[in-house]
Amino acid sequence: MHFSKLFIPTLKESPADAEVISHKLMVRAGMIRQLASGIYSILPLGLRVLRKVEQIIREEMNQIGGQEVFLPSIQPAELWMESKRWDFYGKELLRIKDRHNREFCYGPTHEEVITDIVRREIKSYRQLPVILYQIQTKFRDEVRPRFGIMRGREFMMKDAYSFHADEEDTRHTYSQMAKAYSNIFKRCGLDFKQVQADSGTIGGSFSHEFAVLADSGEDDIGFCESCGYASNLELAGSKPPAASTPPAAPQDLKEVETPGKKSVEEVAGFLNLPARQIVKTIILENENGLVAGLVRGDHEINPVKLKNLIGCEWLLPAGEEAISRHPGLHCGYVGPVGLDLPVYADHEIFALHDFVTGANKPSAHFTGVQVERDFKVKQFGDLRTVKVGDPCPHCEEGKYQVKRGIEVGHIFILGTKYSSLMKAVYLDQQGKESAMVMGCYGIGVGRTAAAAIEQNHDDRGIVWPLNLAPFQVIIIPVNYSDDEVKNACDTIYDRLQEIGIDSLLDDRADRLGVKLKDADLIGIPLQIIIGPKNLSAGQIEIKIRKTNESELRPYPQVIEDIPGILKGL
Ligand code: ATP
Ligand code: MG
Repeated sequence: MHFSKLFIPTLKESPADAEVISHKLMVRAGMIRQLASGIYSILPLGLRVLRKVEQIIREEMNQIGGQEVFLPSIQPAELWMESKRWDFYGKELLRIKDRHNREFCYGPTHEEVITDIVRREIKSYRQLPVILYQIQTKFRDEVRPRFGIMRGREFMMKDAYSFHADEEDTRHTYSQMAKAYSNIFKRCGLDFKQVQADSGTIGGSFSHEFAVLADSGEDDIGFCESCGYASNLELAGSKPPAASTPPAAPQDLKEVETPGKKSVEEVAGFLNLPARQIVKTIILENENGLVAGLVRGDHEINPVKLKNLIGCEWLLPAGEEAISRHPGLHCGYVGPVGLDLPVYADHEIFALHDFVTGANKPSAHFTGVQVERDFKVKQFGDLRTVKVGDPCPHCEEGKYQVKRGIEVGHIFILGTKYSSLMKAVYLDQQGKESAMVMGCYGIGVGRTAAAAIEQNHDDRGIVWPLNLAPFQVIIIPVNYSDDEVKNACDTIYDRLQEIGIDSLLDDRADRLGVKLKDADLIGIPLQIIIGPKNLSAGQIEIKIRKTNESELRPYPQVIEDIPGILKGL
């Protein structure tokens, strides 16, 4: 490809609204342009990168028996009503009407459509399992579209769905998928972790995310440096406390005046006790009303874990208004003693004695509180969010590290959630009808490319991992109008084309400085710089984008070394 013929509108300045480096660089490198909030046009250079990601995904999906399909993006509301998600999905679902006033949505995901196809066509256990996937545009009316194509409203996703006769077979495909995902992200040159995840709106019982580690990530990932256990921080398990022997003479329950002392720090300072001896009582609200969650003062309650322990539909911190409506609750002085709400406590509380809680009256706390003697706990569980340095629950001496991550992929076992509601059933060997067991598996194509930039850039621009680079080599003539230079450039270009190496020849009449700047910005891994002086000495310059190292190599012999140089990058 010749630079002068390719539409690569590079820019000197980043767009004013771009917060993260990948967004800035994708715009500056002429890869994308915004059409409306969260809606982007992908330009030729950008599309070349997305196609590379797609190709890697395709190969790995085909490898495990996935079959590619292409499903409509406009989906009838009736299907979403069957799965009950028409109401549940909320405002992210872009709902539209056709000229007959029939309701549709623009697909944010395709469980309903694929389940509808499979229930019509697959009747027997003999036709199972089946793995179908597509690479297609999704629309989600995100509350805060940002970071360019990393969190767009319209974006490319690879979504795969598998249908099985039983859970065991689903798990088998799930682990093959997990392996395929690892291969994909490795081939994309990414530093990532497979983390235990919550199954969110899609629902289901088992789920992992693939997170690319980067400071701009929106998720917190907790992982153990010793055993490799990794989890979304909201689910990362905390180690249960060691068994503790109660004190021989437990303190008595005593009410103390604590005027104006509401926070853990204030109460701990006032009573001269460590924060771990103060127990925080957090009031939360779910579909059945208010509940109380207890954690140690030096810990934070984790609503996702509490929601999973209770098994409720939703759970949110109760607002001041809801708290004040409940008699006997006073913000800052809430405690479990005498509280008429279900109490759930973190497992650390089980090992705690002689602690402090609010006294459920303004300006007062209890000291000498003991579990069981002074109040009842409905259920103990792992209810706190782990932090850096906390012990890992899965090994002896490992400690938690916490880093930011970008979720690039997500795999779920859905069970029979959709197949039961939508009656996707099959007949087993005995002729008995059962609901198919399902899995679903997504990868954000654009987000993966953007995540690669987050991990691979410098102050001059993008540094593409070889497998995602829009071109592997860029040939930069100092002066393309010089016959000998032009001749060498064309010879190298033709030879690279012949051996299947994607290269870009910068045939523009611009100054060398401009061409070098653009080459650095768009991040092609290998630059070949050809000038009349070097050439007359039988040499050309080879420069590695990543290290900025360059060396002179003999021309034309060097041409045959290029595949080897690329391999070593
Ligand atoms: P997030 O938590 O980031 O909103 P999600 O959990 O809603 O994502 P999934 O439903 O699991 O996303 O979608 C599968 C994949 O699609 C994600 O792992 C991500 O790579 C990609 N993806 C999801 N939402 C977006 C978006 N708004 N823009 C770009 N890619 C996205
Ligand atoms: Mg997800």
